Amino acid sequence: MTRPVRTRIAPSPTGAPHVGTAYMALFNLAFAQKNQGKMVLRIEDTDQERSTEESEDAILQSLQWLGIKWDEGPDRGGDFGPYRQSERKDIHSEHVQLLLDQGNAYPCFCTAERLNEVRAKQMQAKETPRYDGHCLSLSREEAQRKMDAGEKYVVRLKIPSEGQCTFNDELRGEVTIDWKQIDHQVLQKSDGFPTYHLANVVDDHLMEISHVIRGEEWISSTPKHILLYEYFKWDPPVFAHLPLLRNPDKSKLSKRKNPTGINYYRDAGYLPEAMSNYLGMMGYTLPDQREIFSIDELSESFDISRMSLGGPIFDLAKLKWLNGRYLREKLTGEEVVKRLLEWKLNPEFLEKILPHALQRLENFSDFIPLAGFLFDEHPTLHFSSLIGKIEPSDASKLLKVCEWELEKINSWDRDNIAQVFQNIAEKEEKKLKEILPLFFQAISGSNVSLPIFDSMNILGVDLVRIRLRRALELLASEGAGLSKKGLKSLEKQYRIQYGDRIN
Ligand code: GLU
Repeated sequence: MTRPVRTRIAPSPTGAPHVGTAYMALFNLAFAQKNQGKMVLRIEDTDQERSTEESEDAILQSLQWLGIKWDEGPDRGGDFGPYRQSERKDIHSEHVQLLLDQGNAYPCFCTAERLNEVRAKQMQAKETPRYDGHCLSLSREEAQRKMDAGEKYVVRLKIPSEGQCTFNDELRGEVTIDWKQIDHQVLQKSDGFPTYHLANVVDDHLMEISHVIRGEEWISSTPKHILLYEYFKWDPPVFAHLPLLRNPDKSKLSKRKNPTGINYYRDAGYLPEAMSNYLGMMGYTLPDQREIFSIDELSESFDISRMSLGGPIFDLAKLKWLNGRYLREKLTGEEVVKRLLEWKLNPEFLEKILPHALQRLENFSDFIPLAGFLFDEHPTLHFSSLIGKIEPSDASKLLKVCEWELEKINSWDRDNIAQVFQNIAEKEEKKLKEILPLFFQAISGSNVSLPIFDSMNILGVDLVRIRLRRALELLASEGAGLSKKGLKSLEKQYRIQYGDRIN
């Protein structure tokens, strides 16, 4: 008997909603709809430190904005809940215990120092860094004694020491990976929380997921998942790994090169239906080669075997062209007006701007020259106005550092933005008013506009990031950019001076 089709989308709520998530969701939905199945939305918040409620809300909202609908999820319930992994910790622990009892998983007491040493040695020997199996040799009694003594431990998956794992990928056929390449994966962390691998497999099984359609970056993890299905004596689902979206230079789509946040496209004025249509064209062509289609139309004729394996290029110019076609061919004039009003020409948005503009207004005609940049996807920049009195090479450095620092903001608001600039001025030993004109220009393309921090707050992180990037590109095109070497040394210096990570 064939199982009912159930697909799932399993985002981790650790940042802004990503177009890659929407792309995966779209094909999971199309496959489920085509096969009279259901799509589940499961929140994978096993990374307690990085998961936030805001991110979860934003992901749900942005998928809804795109018209992607799921049948079960944390917001709408269903028969297989809870749909948030943090609420399933006990279920995961029970399953870890089962593996421990079987001897298919084992506690590992190695310290971070020891693991680092092992890793360093393996890297030196040009081997793939992986756990060396040290704690496998502990007897049950010894392990129990250590646990009773309160020693910290993680639980690892036992991986066959030789041989290969072969599994079927719906798009690629047989995939074979040597067990030697697979690490003894941590299944449960020392705080008792499961890792992605354990929780993902257990939940896919308990939620009766029949088809796991996900990104190709998970192919190398699939052997661990298959092994878990084997240890639990469960039937594995069908796996299909879709190619990842790419930048025009073929590198993996990244916010360094392209806007990757779904909200960027909403805020820059793209239509959700054009956006989901465009994502549907990524790696897939309808049998009749039609370029304009709705999600339902995609679902009706969806055939997963038609997915192409070459990494689809996410090309902003093509998306823009498609969006233009939607405006002209799919919407009436009346509808366009309605959409424009919903977008930014509405009281809510204008009220955000007005308090900052009022001081500078004498009549309404002043409003557009002042605030137009808040409605513009790319304000025009001019090299000489952009750098102003700053040394061109310093301008690039400041913009780059600002880009990194803004990434660290957890909650995007005026005060946090202002704090970033205070900090940069301090660290660079400059006055705020010396560095701000550069950012004023980069953000608004003008010297006379609205207060910069409020403007950035209103624009949102996605639009701001692209403006900084554009300014950097302009400097580079004028020979004032950062060379590869320059960027490397800036990164190094930045880490020392500003501390913390670069996203
Ligand atoms: N939580 C994983 C992610 O964020 C899901 C991967 C999967 O679909 O198995 O990508």
